[in-house]
Amino acid sequence: MKPGRTPCINPRCSRTGPADEFPGEMICGKCFRALPAEARAKHRGYWRELRKWDRRILRTTDELKRERMRDIRARVAWRLGLHWDREIKAPLLAPEKLVGLDTFLQEAGLS
Ligand SMILES: [Zn+2]
Repeated sequence: MKPGRTPCINPRCSRTGPADEFPGEMICGKCFRALPAEARAKHRGYWRELRKWDRRILRTTDELKRERMRDIRARVAWRLGLHWDREIKAPLLAPEKLVGLDTFLQEAGLS
């Protein structure tokens, strides 16, 4: 592994991303697009919510309100982490789920 690069979480994928942009774990665009549509939508939804709270926290001057917003943001981040582990990472690490039904149907042109 090259320094400064983060590998895709899919063990069968050799793509990497810049570590400054993806300091922890990352999934490459190709593997992300192969995920079931529901998992992709949920993942995007959590990120949308995080960005929304980031913007609100920046705009708010009341320190008490900011504190409450940071708590809410932390809960969203926690749910994103859970979703990442259970619905994105776990299926990719389980070899028997190498090709999910959704991917199979898409590739077969049936959905
Ligand atoms: Zn990948």
